Amino acid sequence: MHEVALAQALWRQVVSEMARHEGRRLLALDVVVGAWSGADPESLEFALGLLIADSRWPDARVRLRREPLALVCCACGREFQPEELNLVCPGCGGLDVDPVRGRELRLESLEIE
Ligand SMILES: [Zn+2]
Repeated sequence: MHEVALAQALWRQVVSEMARHEGRRLLALDVVVGAWSGADPESLEFALGLLIADSRWPDARVRLRREPLALVCCACGREFQPEELNLVCPGCGGLDVDPVRGRELRLESLEIE
């Protein structure tokens, strides 16, 4: 399962961050899952839950925030959220668009006691 590797990578970040707060307790972690990150949020949450249960902070909670895909039009600069697979700029009809959000999977913050 792809999400297990992703969860392990995120968890390594958590552990190294917590090493700088020795003796304190991790209460929650905030994770951003982009709509196009390739990660399934439910599987990711489950995999993180297993790592947490086995950690020094078994009561820590996972807060996932789903980030929709956002695109920016290279022609007119308009930023928009596409509906389904319609990637045409609603401003000028341009097809030359770049993703600005929604492709990431990242650890956003930690709540520490
Ligand atoms: Zn445009």
